[in-house]
Amino acid sequence: MTESKSANKGLNFPEKLLSPIKNFLESELVKLKRQKKNLKEADPFSDAGRTTENSIEEDLDEQIGHFDSEVKVKFVNRQIVQLRKALTRMKIGKYGVCEKCGEMIDTDRLAISPEATTCVECSKEDEK
Ligand SMILES: [Zn+2]
Repeated sequence: MTESKSANKGLNFPEKLLSPIKNFLESELVKLKRQKKNLKEADPFSDAGRTTENSIEEDLDEQIGHFDSEVKVKFVNRQIVQLRKALTRMKIGKYGVCEKCGEMIDTDRLAISPEATTCVECSKEDEK
């Protein structure tokens, strides 16, 4: 066990603070995975009983339904990736450190989005 050593680095969050965040992220991950599964099941394209002899209107409905769930799945996927990233950062002891510039991420930011892996400044860069 080398945990006592790494706890003294100063940059690291203490385990006491980290474990509730970790639990939160892990439960979010479970929720998102369930959500993704539901979305995929709601996608008319994944309906096994779907016929190829639809009217044009039915086809259109399915197209829209498919597009809608695709957008949602994409959104959920992005959140899943972000949560996994945050959990990985935790594992390597880099949680709370911006992955781009290496600065500490504002704790206010982490309180609002605990899955954040970049600081406010770098996330602004991303959105540009
Ligand atoms: Zn940064």
